[in-house]
Amino acid sequence: MYSVEKSHKLDNVCYDIRGPVHKEARRLEDEGHRILKLNIGNPAPFGFEAPEELLKDAILNLPTSQGYCDSKGLFSARKAVMQYYQQKGLRTTDLDDIYIGNGVSELIVMAMQALLNNGDEILVPAPDYPLWTAAVTLSGGKAVHYMCDEGADWYPDLDDIRAKISPRTKGIVLINPNNPTGAVYGSEFLLEVVEIARQNKLIIFADEIYDKILYDDVAHHSVCTLCDDVLVATFNGLSKSYRAAGFRQGWMMLSGPKHQARDYIEGLEMLSSMRLCANVPMQHCIQAALGGYQSINELVLPGGRLRQQRDKAWELLNQIPGVSCVKPKGAIYLFPRLDPKVYDIRDDQKMVYDLLLQEKLLIVQGTGFNWPKPDHFRLVTLPRVDDIEDAVSRIARFLKHYQQ
Ligand code: PLP
Repeated sequence: MYSVEKSHKLDNVCYDIRGPVHKEARRLEDEGHRILKLNIGNPAPFGFEAPEELLKDAILNLPTSQGYCDSKGLFSARKAVMQYYQQKGLRTTDLDDIYIGNGVSELIVMAMQALLNNGDEILVPAPDYPLWTAAVTLSGGKAVHYMCDEGADWYPDLDDIRAKISPRTKGIVLINPNNPTGAVYGSEFLLEVVEIARQNKLIIFADEIYDKILYDDVAHHSVCTLCDDVLVATFNGLSKSYRAAGFRQGWMMLSGPKHQARDYIEGLEMLSSMRLCANVPMQHCIQAALGGYQSINELVLPGGRLRQQRDKAWELLNQIPGVSCVKPKGAIYLFPRLDPKVYDIRDDQKMVYDLLLQEKLLIVQGTGFNWPKPDHFRLVTLPRVDDIEDAVSRIARFLKHYQQ
């Protein structure tokens, strides 16, 4: 007998959104249970459809998209991305600075693999979208978490960021709008981060995949448009604002003083070539998506489906004794807090596992987002209001008996 073991490179790599509790939910479904799944930010299964022109473009171009394309992506897609940021005021980017990937996920891993030597550090928010921490760790780096302050609308603590910079720090990740907290950062705050990056020669990795999912008239500022002299890698794609997560289309764009990053860029180009190119037919959707009418606006305006669902989920969760939740200004999640005086939860993975078994409801524990205490959880605001009401009443019923 022999056993095949996984690489030690994976020893500390975690991605709990599709972790053990998610697997248990699949097992229960195989047994015939109906599970209400509020764990993944995947709009399509909740009845959100991609704009029709995206589908038309993909279908129209399918017959002529059978070959590989340039490893950085189709000209039309990269041109559309470049123009999108030029219209926001960015001057320091070029077609060659744009990489189309099979989703932002692929590009996050690529950006870290190309940059990090063993022990290099990247500042990552806590809580974070955990792929960032996982990608840093997989690449041999160390994710150093800076704290976001729930009492300050989940804005990152700038002093904590400053305190955690070391000679090995190479970059800082900003997720704006944030997953899981829904925070959206103002330009004043972003300029402070730019100044920290400037002083410490850090690359800013700006994950802006929710840049169009904004509520309450809040404005989004792409950090790359706020500075010319700091290297910024901006990430965005079709999965959320365009509801086409299955198309696996994302982009990374470099801006700022690229001449200082020639070697890094060589590394990115090498990794980009090694995976040949992103899915070609679906790249045609990028220019269809970025130009013209933006149907996402209807979903987030007052009366829009996403807005109504966010409002309802937030209102109902806050009515549960011992549960409090900052109102998200963007994205498609809530990250409520369980008051430790009311709920003495030691292991939040066990808590969401018990919730799954008892109530057939799937959410994700806060520690899955590299939040240091077992006192939060995340749920998506994608289900229709009826399902949100149902889900929150299951959480309330579960919590009522959980400690007794
Ligand atoms: N970045 C953030 C903040 C996300 O929430 C997600 C998906 O949930 C991704 C990146 C990955 O997106 P993609 O579907 O483009 O790989």
